[in-house]
Amino acid sequence: MYDLLVIGGGIHGVNVVEIAASKGYKVMLLEQNTIASGTSSKSSKLIHGGLRYLETGQLSLVRECLKERLLLLKRAPDLVKLRPFFIPIFPETRRRPGMIRIGLSMYAVLGGFCKDGRFCTVSKSKWLTLDGLKQDKLSHVFLYYDAQTDDKKLTQAVVASAQKLGADVLTNAELINASSRTNAWEITYKTEQTHIVHSKIIVNAAGPWVNQVLSRIDSDVGEVGIDWVQGTHVIVKGEITQGIYYIESPDDGRAVFVMPWYGNTMIGTTETLYQGRLAEIHPLQSEIDYLLRTYSYYFPQRSVEFLDAFAGVRVLPASESNPFQRSRDTILKVDDENNPTLLNIYGGKLTAAHATAEAVMKKLQFVLPVPTKNIDLSEVALS
Ligand SMILES: Cc1cc2nc3c(=O)[nH]c(=O)nc-3n(C[C@H](O)[C@H](O)[C@H](O)COP(=O)(O)OP(=O)(O)OC[C@H]3O[C@@H](n4cnc5c(N)ncnc54)[C@H](O)[C@@H]3O)c2cc1C
Repeated sequence: MYDLLVIGGGIHGVNVVEIAASKGYKVMLLEQNTIASGTSSKSSKLIHGGLRYLETGQLSLVRECLKERLLLLKRAPDLVKLRPFFIPIFPETRRRPGMIRIGLSMYAVLGGFCKDGRFCTVSKSKWLTLDGLKQDKLSHVFLYYDAQTDDKKLTQAVVASAQKLGADVLTNAELINASSRTNAWEITYKTEQTHIVHSKIIVNAAGPWVNQVLSRIDSDVGEVGIDWVQGTHVIVKGEITQGIYYIESPDDGRAVFVMPWYGNTMIGTTETLYQGRLAEIHPLQSEIDYLLRTYSYYFPQRSVEFLDAFAGVRVLPASESNPFQRSRDTILKVDDENNPTLLNIYGGKLTAAHATAEAVMKKLQFVLPVPTKNIDLSEVALS
């Protein structure tokens, strides 16, 4: 009998499993495919506070993410790297220099004035070194620091750590259904064969599949209404070398990042409501055109040789409002607030996944047995 069974081998599932194993719980992870095969290999790969969330007043999210960034820089120095981020300002840039200065100052404050929170303007004499950035009517270039990772490798590193701490991890293992028995769940999952296990608690960390998984669990907990919002990235040949550029799409003013990526350049992302089947998600030609247009607009001297594109899906609370404006807060929905045996994770960030997993464990602490171990994960390296 497991204490905890986690469904989904994305960044949320693996973090829950790692923390549970660090406390000595008997924990199992089921992933229907391979680790990080879902959203957790399709993100913008930024470990960041999310400067743009300041615009929508999501201060606590930014503060939490900046704290998590510090932790990840410490735990995974080979996987999470601090990078210079450049914000160029032109006459048409919607976020004016005064606003950027206020935003970066708030970012530094929310980051606790750590050394990585410093920012400045780049002197004009250095603008020509900025990877061919458009110089015409360029008026300012701001420089601040945030971090970049390889999301898939980071997720794999966390699961490897969880396994070292004693977690059972199964890939190509799909949850089929779960039904309630006295004091436990009976869980059926499928590999090449069908298997049954028992667990006191289920954590549903199935990302965009969260409601599909919930519908397979015999519980009357209601679904949270969600929208799937697709985000595409493109990869073009040739690497930008100076850092990451935070630019505004000339079409609609949305923030778009241009980043170095394994010897080439990655540009993203988009926000397109998605209503199809998750298995069929793919980059749309209109998204690829939008991103390449944005890149060429700011880097007119760089050749644009398209190499690849990929798309992932965000889980956002269902709403009529523009996805760009919506809250990125994570929702933890349990079957019973006082005696939870099923917890569903909705939304979230790669950056904050460890903090989210801690919040999950906190919600479950009174139904779990007394921990038999107390390993300080901030001292456990991820590689
Ligand atoms: C375009 C885009 C850009 C983003 N950029 C950033 C960023 O730069 N920084 C940041 O911090 N965050 C970013 N995010 C957010 C971040 O990527 C996600 O919050 C995170 O990856 C979600 O992880 P997850 O574990 O919840 O879901 P997923 O990674 O999707 O994992 C869920 C897993 O559940 C499995 N599963 C589903 N059904 C079953 C079943 N029946 N049985 C077993 N397993 C099942 C799936 O196969 C999948 O692997 C971005 C998101 C998107 C879409």
